[in-house]
Amino acid sequence: MSLSPAAHIDPIGALVFVLAGFGWGKPVPVNVYEASDALVVVAPLPAVQPEDVAIDLWPGRMRITASLRSAAPREYLMHEWSYGGYEREIDLPDGWGGGAEASLANGQLAVRVLPRQADEFTCSQCFLVHHRSQLAREKNGQFVCRDCAA
Ligand SMILES: [Zn+2]
Repeated sequence: MSLSPAAHIDPIGALVFVLAGFGWGKPVPVNVYEASDALVVVAPLPAVQPEDVAIDLWPGRMRITASLRSAAPREYLMHEWSYGGYEREIDLPDGWGGGAEASLANGQLAVRVLPRQADEFTCSQCFLVHHRSQLAREKNGQFVCRDCAA
């Protein structure tokens, strides 16, 4: 069975509520589509530099964060938007999340989430993706890599 990526994405209303409750970065809207070799996530990130963007991958989940570099104090006449920071988490469909490549151009972030390979596993302790040769043990579907088992 193949599910549309859109079916897995959090309703943005719920996310806004969660983020507002914890005072994190501002939520960012995303577009997600499946290309032949990557799951593509596109988000507007105005006034953000590439070095300020972080992409975190967990099993089945990805987070985009963009830190706020500097906000010059101003006496605003109108103040309808802010320079970040930004944050967004989305669920990843099965089979994606073996890695990610990101690019930032014209105020738009594009993340290419790569497919997970059949010979890879995600460690349940460090949450990194490893090759099978690094598998130390598996119990009840929980994988542990050699580094974490040591
Ligand atoms: Zn590990």
